Amino acid sequence: MKRLNPMLQRLEQFYEEMVQLRRELHMYPELSFQEVETPRKIAAIHRELGLDVRTEVGGRGVVATLRGGKPGPTVALRADFDALPIQDEKEVDYKSRVPGVMHACGHDLHTATLIGVARVLVERKEELAGNVVFIHQFAEEVSPGGAKPMIEDGCLDDVDVIYGYHVWAGIPYGEVRVTEGYMMAAVDDFIIHIEGKGGHGATPHVTVDPIVVGSQLVLNLQQIVSRRVDPLKPAVLTVGSFVSGNAFNVIPGTAQLRGTIRSFDDDVRALMEQALKEVTEATCRAAGAKARIEFLRGYPAVNNHAEPTKWIEEAAKPIVGADQVKPLTPIMGGEDFAYYLQKVPGTFFFVGGENSELNAVYPHHHPKFDVDERAMIIGGKVFLAAVARHLLK
Ligand SMILES: [Zn+2]
Ligand SMILES: [Zn+2]
Repeated sequence: MKRLNPMLQRLEQFYEEMVQLRRELHMYPELSFQEVETPRKIAAIHRELGLDVRTEVGGRGVVATLRGGKPGPTVALRADFDALPIQDEKEVDYKSRVPGVMHACGHDLHTATLIGVARVLVERKEELAGNVVFIHQFAEEVSPGGAKPMIEDGCLDDVDVIYGYHVWAGIPYGEVRVTEGYMMAAVDDFIIHIEGKGGHGATPHVTVDPIVVGSQLVLNLQQIVSRRVDPLKPAVLTVGSFVSGNAFNVIPGTAQLRGTIRSFDDDVRALMEQALKEVTEATCRAAGAKARIEFLRGYPAVNNHAEPTKWIEEAAKPIVGADQVKPLTPIMGGEDFAYYLQKVPGTFFFVGGENSELNAVYPHHHPKFDVDERAMIIGGKVFLAAVARHLLK
C-alpha cells in the first residue's frame, strides 16, 4: 500500500489527459475489423512512453510491453477499441463526427484507461519485479472477434495472469462488481433458410408456404429452452429476424430466420445446437419444406478464475470502499475476453458508469449511451492495484 498509494494519486493527475484521449477516440470511432487510426494512435503513444510495441497483432491489434527493472511474472491488461454501427444522438461536444458510427459500448474509455495506467507504470518501471503487457484489442463487437487471432499471434506468450474491465452503464458510478465462474454467456448465432414452394395466395394447396412453416418453427424453437434445457441452467434462444415475401397475394418461395443462442455450460451449448437442428429439420419436413442451417459458433462463455477474482475484489475494496464492491449477477451478453481466460488465469470485472446527473442512463449500444468518465479512474486504479500485487515486492 505504501508504494501503491502514490501510483493511485499519480493516475488522478493523468485524468484530464485520459478524458481528452477518450473524447478524441469518441469523436472518431472506427468499426470492428476496420480500425486504422485508432491502433495507430495507441501504438504512437506507447512508443513515446518507451514501451516495446507490436502492431497488426492478429490483424489490427496493438501489444505494448513494459519490462520492469527486476525479473518476475508478467501481468496482462486488456482493453478493446472498436465502435458500433450506430448514429450518435447525444448532445455533447465530443459527439461522434463519423456518421453512423459510435462508441456506444465504452471501449474508448477502456483504451484511455489502459494508456493512463501505462503512463503511471512507466515512471515506476525500475521498481517493478516483472512485466506488464498492454493488450489493445480490435473487433470485440463482431464475431469471430479480435481476441482469438491476437492470442494466436502470441499476445499471451509468457503472460501469467490477465485482467480486463468493462465500464457498465447499468451499474451506478462508484461500484465495482466481480464474480468468479461464469460471468458472460457463450454466443452462437444461426441463419435458417426455409425453402418452400411459391404460388398464388388464393391457391395455398398447391404451394408449400414458408411463412407458415417459419412461424411454426419460431414457436417450436421456443420449446428448446422451456422443455429441453435443465431449468437450473441459463439459456436463451431468440429469433431476431424473419424475412419472407413482399406482396398481398403471393406465397413466397423462401423464408429466412436469424437468431442468437446464449448459454454458459458447454453441455447446454451443445444441446442447444443439436436441438436447433433437430427441431428445424423436423418442423420443415413435416410441412414438406426444406431447411438449411448456417450455425455460427461465436464466443465461448466468460469463465472467471477464482484466485484472480479474489485479488481484484481485494484490490478494489480500498479504492471504492468495501460496500461498493459487489457480487456481479452473470449476464447473457457475450465477450471475447473469454478466449484469454481459456489460456491463462484471470478475471473480467465491471466498473459502474451510470450517473443520472450526467444523463448517463442509457444502456450499452443505445444511440444516447454515455457513462461517467470517472469510471476510468476506478478501473485504472484497480488495474494498478492488481499490478502492484504481482509486481511490487
Ligand atoms: Zn458492446
Ligand atoms: Zn463492450
